[in-house]
Amino acid sequence: MTLRGRLLLAQAPLALALVLVGVTAVVTLARVGRSGQEILQDNYRSVLAMQRMTEQLERMDSAALFIVAGERQRGQEQQAEQRPKLEAELRVQEGNITEVGEVEATRRLREAWAGYQAAYDGFIALEDKEATRERYFAALAPAFLEAKAAAAAILDLNQDAMMRKSEALRRQSERVNTLMVTAVLAAFLVGLFASTSLTHRALRPVSVLSQAVRRVGQGDLAARAVVEGRDEISQLSQDFNAMAERLQQYRQSSLGDLLQAQAASQAAIDSLPDPALVFGTGGVLLNVNRAAEDVLRSSLEAGGDVLGRVPPEVREVLERVRLSVLGGKGAYQPRGYEEAVRVAAPEGERWLLPRGSPVYGESGDVVGATVILQDVTRLRRFDELKNDLVATVAHEFRTPLTSLRMAIHLCAEGVVGPVTEKQADLLSAAREDCERLQGIVDDLLDLSRIQAGQLTLNLRRVSVTALVEEALAAQQAVAEDRGVKLLQEIAPEGEEVEVDPERVQLVLSNLLANGVRHTPSGGAVSVRVTQEERRVRFEVKDTGEGIPSEEQGRIFEKFYRAPGAPAGGAGLGLSIARDIVHAHGGEIGVVSATGQGSTFWFTLPQHLPAPSAEKP
Ligand code: ADP
Repeated sequence: MTLRGRLLLAQAPLALALVLVGVTAVVTLARVGRSGQEILQDNYRSVLAMQRMTEQLERMDSAALFIVAGERQRGQEQQAEQRPKLEAELRVQEGNITEVGEVEATRRLREAWAGYQAAYDGFIALEDKEATRERYFAALAPAFLEAKAAAAAILDLNQDAMMRKSEALRRQSERVNTLMVTAVLAAFLVGLFASTSLTHRALRPVSVLSQAVRRVGQGDLAARAVVEGRDEISQLSQDFNAMAERLQQYRQSSLGDLLQAQAASQAAIDSLPDPALVFGTGGVLLNVNRAAEDVLRSSLEAGGDVLGRVPPEVREVLERVRLSVLGGKGAYQPRGYEEAVRVAAPEGERWLLPRGSPVYGESGDVVGATVILQDVTRLRRFDELKNDLVATVAHEFRTPLTSLRMAIHLCAEGVVGPVTEKQADLLSAAREDCERLQGIVDDLLDLSRIQAGQLTLNLRRVSVTALVEEALAAQQAVAEDRGVKLLQEIAPEGEEVEVDPERVQLVLSNLLANGVRHTPSGGAVSVRVTQEERRVRFEVKDTGEGIPSEEQGRIFEKFYRAPGAPAGGAGLGLSIARDIVHAHGGEIGVVSATGQGSTFWFTLPQHLPAPSAEKP
């Protein structure tokens, strides 16, 4: 059945109850109406007949009195006129006997009427006035009273019956009232109950369907609406179930693809030998590979604060790289091997060098950061080995080099005998090379000490001007040789810094020497000192060939020499300068472009933080 049919059916009990009440009301009211009519038909006719008969009897009696009074003619006419009327009324009564005892009463009236007529006939036959009078009182008046009494008896009988019947009618109508009220109430209740339960039954599939829709909405795609029948709701349910089925299939298939893709990408990152970590924007750790789990001794599955279980020095590095990448600075490249962080591992210590790259979302925004900790343990070991070797070689070179220089000096001075001009030239070249070699050996020793963590600063409060002037003085001779001008600009004058003067001197000398070496004759190298907030900034600017930008990142590396760089250095000067500046808590860098000269700069804090600042 259709939903419309069911809803209509649900209204049927109420309609039926209405019809039943209506029929009952019509039948009952018809019965009450009939009872009233019966009263009219049965008794009211007799009452009217008896009242008229009594009246006519009275008129016959007054006619008799006319005769007694001598008005015979008038009396006779009046009584003759009344007789047929009386007879007619009596017949009406005889044809309308309805009550118990009415037959006898009517018969008595008929007899009394017959007796009254007989007495009247005898009374009229008398001629004599006196005899007439006597007869009237002796026979006619009693017969008159008897007939009148008989008529009154019938009247009473019918009036009593009328009273009785009207009382019965009143009671009946009261009963009908009660019945109607009860019937209306009962019909209303039954109809309401039946309609409600039928409506409820008709709408139950709707609630089944709506429950299924709600469950699917909450993500339970296995939910189905079980509705039987062929109505609109069951059709809708079938369509809904088909839709849920398709959705479930789709989700299963896309979930499968997704799981497969996830497994593939997990396998890919797991296959990386170096630890890799993927962070979300809020710093949540989204994924780690197996190597990272080994190193960090923590896994994502363990839950909780994964980073909290990571060694603090590693956490610090991870945070730094993550913030740099998520801060929109692009990929993070370490400045050098010094950035490698040491991690204790079962097979011994490991050195990990952090690199970071951004993870881009669909709209091109940075939505995460991948941090790869490149294992540089072996490279670092080689580096250490090389440092040790260099330190040993440099150290072993020192003594022979000193005696070599001494020997050349003695020879050149002619202490061991006279030297020819040619010999003097050769000795001078040999001395120059020895000096250069001495410089390199000194650089190497400085470097190895710095690398071994032995760079202890001997802090003193010195004037910036003195520092600069001393460094310029040291380069003056070479600069003049090359035809390069040395300039200085110090603002403010007399400013002091708390530094290790010899080391800072070395930095300035290295930068000035580089400047002079790279500046063609006629050019200039200038030193500029400015005051920044709690820092002093040194700038060494030359008018040389400049440094291409791709080189600029590398020139501070150890042993790095630009291709085609003039002979004389070992690629250590800038590396040493950087280490010294960093040891002071400062920064160093270069601003340059090919053909436009270079400006090397470094900053030094005016006061080193306590406790170093309190040193004398
Ligand atoms: P070196 O002792 O070989 O000069 P440095 O560490 O001092 O080593 O310098 C590294 C490299 O940086 C040099 O080989 C040179 O190519 C480049 N460089 C340094 N200073 C300058 C400069 N003022 N102008 C151009 N190139 C420079």
